[in-house]
Amino acid sequence: MNDQVIIVGGGPAGSAAASLLARSGKKVLLLEKEIFPRFHIGESLLPFSHRVLARIGAWDKVKNAGFMIKPGAEFVLSNGRSLRRFWFGDSLAEPYDKTFQVERSKFDALLLDHAKESGASVLTGAAARGFRVGPDGVEVEYELAGENGRARGQWLIDATGREPFVGKLLHLPRTDLGIPKKMAVYAHFRNVRRNPGRAAGNITVVRLPHGWFWLIPLDEEKTSVGMVRPISAFQNGKGGPSELFEETVRESRELRMRLEKAEAMGPYRTTADYTYRLECLAGSRWLATGDAAGFLDPVFSSGVTVALEGGVLAAETVLGQPKGSTGLSPGQRREFTRRIHGLARRFADMIHMFYDDRAFEVFMTPRPPLAMKDAIIHLLAGSTDLHPSLWLRVKLFYLLCGMQRRWRLAPALDYGP
Ligand SMILES: Cc1cc2nc3c(=O)[nH]c(=O)nc-3n(C[C@H](O)[C@H](O)[C@H](O)COP(=O)(O)OP(=O)(O)OC[C@H]3O[C@@H](n4cnc5c(N)ncnc54)[C@H](O)[C@@H]3O)c2cc1C
Repeated sequence: MNDQVIIVGGGPAGSAAASLLARSGKKVLLLEKEIFPRFHIGESLLPFSHRVLARIGAWDKVKNAGFMIKPGAEFVLSNGRSLRRFWFGDSLAEPYDKTFQVERSKFDALLLDHAKESGASVLTGAAARGFRVGPDGVEVEYELAGENGRARGQWLIDATGREPFVGKLLHLPRTDLGIPKKMAVYAHFRNVRRNPGRAAGNITVVRLPHGWFWLIPLDEEKTSVGMVRPISAFQNGKGGPSELFEETVRESRELRMRLEKAEAMGPYRTTADYTYRLECLAGSRWLATGDAAGFLDPVFSSGVTVALEGGVLAAETVLGQPKGSTGLSPGQRREFTRRIHGLARRFADMIHMFYDDRAFEVFMTPRPPLAMKDAIIHLLAGSTDLHPSLWLRVKLFYLLCGMQRRWRLAPALDYGP
């Protein structure tokens, strides 16, 4: 077997892994089934993704690509009451004081090109179909332009997103993370009313009694707008997903105001969205990362940041193996799985908080006590290594969320018409 690393999937996780491995002198082959640029949802970044982008050498390219600057995130009820704005710059210094809203067709193509420029071989239009692990390596079968091909290497990194290649072939068990299944319907629009001033680049999350909308400004003209509601709302609705989207806009004062003159620039798309994780993320010669390791509800825009971090972690795990390695030991596989689960876990508590009406009241308090605002901003920015004093405040925040379920410490939110 030759000593190359085969990566399947050229989204943020695959490109991050390929770039780091190639820059560290590894031979890398990346197989991507689509021809780029291609549409993908997941357009709002978090400031702490910058650290990973710097680690793979792509930060300057992303910074100078002309993406819309996102200085903060805001949450508002669908009747327009209780707006809560968080500015990253209130608690974080450069380069974490702002981030970007990215059209994924451009962002993913930039990262895949960066992987190529870093030395990785990239085959686009190549869909992996199967793989076989042998004593000294791994063989991947793929289809390219109607022809079958085979690639051999030492390691396989599965970065195939929400259709996990290895997970499906091996029927790996999934664990539901206790967040009810939802569906998203979304499109790009022109003529969406923007926030004035420096809030123009913010992501706006409009909280419905059961669900939410995102509004993500992508450039001067285009805004990504999507609705996430429980699957039951779609099953019980009279029309299709786009009718439910439009009906929900009509019922919301905030959304009516913002989307009054909006026109869809393309088709509405839908995605069933289900928060889960795979319990086993590594075998003797394969590692699964990014969405191929599990999926998180997107309300806090965590997916791309977690995918980039996970891609780097997979690459570092391969780089840590000695030449002629006989494969990952059971302990190394468990350690990799534990670390990938840990990347997602920091957002899981926040997601539970968002869907818990009482806990959400604490989050929306205009003047959070005990300098908790800093802690919340760090969480919203995707920070991993919080200073102990901030951790304490995060713990306190969740404690207050728990107490709010029994005693109303923060004022109730008014979802009325
Ligand atoms: C409704 C919704 C809204 C979201 N909003 C946000 C957001 O605002 N911010 C955010 O950070 N995240 C968001 N996300 C999450 C984000 O989209 C993902 O977490 C992120 O794209 C994961 O990156 P990845 O590299 O793991 O997978 P992907 O980006 O999905 O890339 C996987 C790649 O693998 C390729 N592939 C698949 N199978 C094969 C195969 N067999 N052979 C070869 N190639 C293959 C695919 O073509 C694809 O290019 C959202 C998700 C949803 C569903």
